[in-house]
Amino acid sequence: MAALKGDFVSISLQGIGMTSLRTRERMIKRLAEQGITNKRVLEIMRDTPRHIFMDEALSSRAYEDTALPIGYNQTISQPYIVAKMTELLLGSEGRLKKVLEIGTGCGYQTAILAQLVDHVYTVERLLPLQRKAKLHIGQLKFKNISYLYADGNVGWADYAPFDGILVSAAPAEIPTMLLEQLSIGGVMVIPTGSSGMQVLQRIIRTQSGYETENVEAVTFVPFLSGVE
Ligand code: SAH
Repeated sequence: MAALKGDFVSISLQGIGMTSLRTRERMIKRLAEQGITNKRVLEIMRDTPRHIFMDEALSSRAYEDTALPIGYNQTISQPYIVAKMTELLLGSEGRLKKVLEIGTGCGYQTAILAQLVDHVYTVERLLPLQRKAKLHIGQLKFKNISYLYADGNVGWADYAPFDGILVSAAPAEIPTMLLEQLSIGGVMVIPTGSSGMQVLQRIIRTQSGYETENVEAVTFVPFLSGVE
C-alpha cells in the first residue's frame, strides 16, 4: 500500500474509492504483459488517476484496456496506446525538454507526458474539448503545460523546434510543418493512414533527413483540418 501516499492517489480515493488503486495495479500488470517495458511510464500510469479525465457515467470503465468516448465524436486512447506512444517517444535518450502534442482531447496523455518531460505544448482544434482538458488537468496542478486552440497541421512555431512530437489523431500523410518543427535527433510518434489501414510510426530526424519505422497497426480518429 506504499502507493497510498501522494496527491494523485488521494484524489482518486475521493473519486471512486479504493478499487481504483487495485484496478490501476491490474492495468499496469496488463500493460507489462502487453510488452510495455519502460518502468517510469508504468509507474506514472499507475499513479495518475485516469477516471478524472472522463465523464462520470464512464469513469468506472476508466481502467479497462479500451478507447472510450469523450464527446464530440472523439475518444480517449486506450491505456496500451498511451503507454506505447509514450515509451516510443521517450526512447532511451535522456529526459526530453520540449514536447509538442497534437490532439489534447481529454488531457490524459498530456498529463502523463507532463510527468516525464520538462514542458508539454499541446494543441487541440475543438474548443470544448480543450476546456475539458484544462479542467481535468487543473485538478492535478501541473505547471509545465501550455495549451493552444488551433489546427495542429501547423504545429506551434513559436516554441519549435521540439525534441518530441506526439500526434494522437491519424492524418493520411504527416503534415510537413510538423516534420519541420522536429529538432535534429528529435522523435515523432504518429499514426498515419486512412481508417482501417493505419500504422503507428516513429520518425527520427537526422542530420540528413528522416528515418521512419513502422511500429504496429492501430486505430485512431482522423486528423482533421481547421478549428471548431
Ligand atoms: N490523447 C487524447 C486523444 C483524443 S482523440 C486523449 O486521450 O484524450 C484525438 C484528438 O485529436 C481529438 O481531441 C481531436 O479533436 C484532435 N485533433 C484531430 N485533428 C486535429 C488537428 N488537426 N489539430 C489539433 N487537434 C486535432
